[in-house]
Amino acid sequence: MEYKSYNLTNYKTNKILKNLPQEAKESIEVVGNVLPFKANNYIINELIDWDNYIDDPLFHLCFPQKEMLRENHYNMVKEALHNGSSAEEVFNVCNAIRSELNPHPSGQQCLNVPFFNGNRLNGVQHKYRETVLFFPGSGQTCHAYCSFCFRWPQFVGKKSLRFAGKESHDLIKYLKVHKEVTDILFTGGDPMTMSANVFSKYLNPVLDSLAETNIQTIRIGTKALSFWPYRFVTDKDSEDMLRIFESIVKKGINLAIMAHFNHPRELDTNIVKEAILKIRSTGAQIRTQSPVFKHINNDPLLWAEMWRKQVNLNCIPYYMFMARDTGAKEYFEISISEAHRIFKEAYSSVSGICRTVRGPSMSCTPGKVMVSGISEIHNEKVFVLRFIQARNSDWVAKPFFAKYDENASWINELKPAFSDKFFFEDEMAEIYHSKLTDCEENKFE
Ligand SMILES: *Cc1c(COP(=O)(O)O)cnc(C)c1O
Ligand code: SF4
Repeated sequence: MEYKSYNLTNYKTNKILKNLPQEAKESIEVVGNVLPFKANNYIINELIDWDNYIDDPLFHLCFPQKEMLRENHYNMVKEALHNGSSAEEVFNVCNAIRSELNPHPSGQQCLNVPFFNGNRLNGVQHKYRETVLFFPGSGQTCHAYCSFCFRWPQFVGKKSLRFAGKESHDLIKYLKVHKEVTDILFTGGDPMTMSANVFSKYLNPVLDSLAETNIQTIRIGTKALSFWPYRFVTDKDSEDMLRIFESIVKKGINLAIMAHFNHPRELDTNIVKEAILKIRSTGAQIRTQSPVFKHINNDPLLWAEMWRKQVNLNCIPYYMFMARDTGAKEYFEISISEAHRIFKEAYSSVSGICRTVRGPSMSCTPGKVMVSGISEIHNEKVFVLRFIQARNSDWVAKPFFAKYDENASWINELKPAFSDKFFFEDEMAEIYHSKLTDCEENKFE
């Protein structure tokens, strides 16, 4: 299958999109100027149910909807587009709106970027002791864009908002010294948009230095199985990519494809099943993850079905995330109590083999906070929380409590129970201040 991608400038060359009602096209154009928009022929022809597209989760996954912007923002862009403003003026209006949408949640830029020999390591984040994220410069795009993407600033022009590593040599120097790092996660964007050839230019230095680092797992974060499964089946270098996977596994490295699936329908096409088989036949594992969102997947039956299908296809359910506080969050967000209900009902209806999944989890500045449950202690209703990952690994797996709040949708809206502070708050403030100084000293832009 030949890949055809659609964006704001060419989407009307697709018959289905061209024939959408004017209203839908306006939403695409107005919202798509602020939040990134890209779809492709596989999503349009095989995933979206056009008979019911208005409420179709897969349509909402890739296509900008009017309500994704606040009304005043929407009107500002619409006005700029229709009153003859120059492209630059439109861009400036949109940029101002973007900067109000919290483009870098959870202190990613200041707190997670490591320093080596006094220099910032570009394209690298090191937040949790064992795992380093690497953003290869050539993989900072995706086969289509999710409307809820928390990495959306990667796709909208402004260089200073972007993470990208030109090559992996500096990272290798860092890994040789930081032996606590066992896992490297190639992420983006989507590293599987790179050709096999380009991907191996980033990967080979990692493989060549295994004797001097402590790398044991290589993960690749990707949505290609959902957005373009042909990547692993019919693309002209699909065999080359599979041979690369095989060579990683042959070195005794655990290769984990961290696959992003949001809806069971993404697992139904013949091509995705074939792609999964091909990847699994290289010895790579596939672990799956997804955020939980209104309009997309806020239904426990859907999650149970999705996990079950994944397991039947030999994938391992890994994470259920909460919507990050960025972009069109208000459109997608559900409360913590609702996310927990969805998780609990789904989790309790599948067998233990599917219960490798953890969640719902909030990736916030101190770490990944999982909502373990809702409980009552001494007549006080509380959320039971725990870190599944933390900036300080001593915090991990220690339960803590927040006052139950029906409407809270992120950790910053929660109040500690039985105490005036969460146990990690003082230490977190120290970490915050020390890292912030690093940032300022290096004239971080
Ligand atoms: C989730 C995440 C990881 C990986 O954590 P695991 O618990 O090992 O899956 C690493 N870095 C960041 C910033 C993350 O959000
Ligand atoms: S695949 Fe991931 S990085 Fe790409 S648009 Fe979707 S959420 Fe964002």
